[in-house]
Amino acid sequence: MKVAVFSAVRYDREFLDAANAASGHQLDFFDVPLGAQSLALAAGHEVVCILPNDAADADTLAALAAGGCRLLALRSTGFNNVDLQAAARAAIKVVRVSAYSPYSVAEHAVALLLALDRKIPRAYNRVRDGNFSLDGLMGFDLHGKTVAVVGTGRIGRAFARIMVGFGCEVIGYDTHPVPDFETLGGRYAALAEIGARADVVSLHCPLTPDNHHIINAESLGRLKRGALLINTSRGGLVDTEAVIAALKSGHLGGLGIDVYEQEAALFFHDLSGTIITDDLFERLLTFPNVIVTGHQAFFTREAITTICATTIASIDDFEAGNPLANEIPIPPTVPTGV
Ligand code: NAD
Repeated sequence: MKVAVFSAVRYDREFLDAANAASGHQLDFFDVPLGAQSLALAAGHEVVCILPNDAADADTLAALAAGGCRLLALRSTGFNNVDLQAAARAAIKVVRVSAYSPYSVAEHAVALLLALDRKIPRAYNRVRDGNFSLDGLMGFDLHGKTVAVVGTGRIGRAFARIMVGFGCEVIGYDTHPVPDFETLGGRYAALAEIGARADVVSLHCPLTPDNHHIINAESLGRLKRGALLINTSRGGLVDTEAVIAALKSGHLGGLGIDVYEQEAALFFHDLSGTIITDDLFERLLTFPNVIVTGHQAFFTREAITTICATTIASIDDFEAGNPLANEIPIPPTVPTGV
């Protein structure tokens, strides 16, 4: 099949080409995101393959269908960037990679937490500068602390398991609790208890219309003073202005994020020679107790291998007319989940 791969960078080519070796689809790689400016590139391709920051809205999907697209293959788990109702109207099936490596994201959340707590970026820069003073680098033991996991799905549970191993008390909140979380040593708690007791809060729930800005001035105000917030899930879960206010007042003890609500204009691009005009993002970078990575939590060899293999397998199944194991069902009325 002819496949238009958008937002393709070097590793996409390398790993998708390897996964496609036996299938022989025609993969056309485009390094630009899918959008109004790049739609013409998709013409004549039956499959369009995208990432979370490629917007598949109603107009885009209608234009893709007109160009011959019948399958939209997401190289991601989250699908909040796709208008599923519009895809159904355009007779485009949508598949995703429903599971790859929960460990990749969970381990990155732990990396952010440790780097924040033990001030690794500051320590690294100091040592390189010949400054071996420890002043200002004091952290705290994670052992014995209370860690809250919001969203106890695959990634949340992988994160919780590591935190249990560190000797933390792990409490969780989920709209759909699962017994596995308690089996691994976690305990479900009400949001009020999480606010009152958590030393660390890590977000692992999808972004849905119901939980946009779940971290806002009010919920931040309920947090214990000095708590750390980790977000490897989706930027839209967090009200950045409220977080900046909480950091300025000292109420929030630190922030580690891999995702940012306006990240589409920034992440995955080399902007080192340009002026970044997002003042909220730039303000975040001025805090010594904020660590930002550019949506790289998924980025391990194991995860990329699985993402590419699953994507090619979905295209194989679509071509063969087989059931699509990773098809996203069209919600009857409620729009997208992630
Ligand atoms: P999952 O579906 O296995 O688990 C999500 C859990 O969140 C479910 O248990 C669900 O019931 C729960 N949930 C839904 N709404 C909630 C709410 N309002 N409050 C609390 N819990 C809620 O998903 P997963 O594989 O664990 O992935 C979680 C999220 O991680 C994805 O949706 C995506 O946004 C994010 N993600 C980020 C990266 C990255 O590179 N940074 C990579 C993959 C996934």
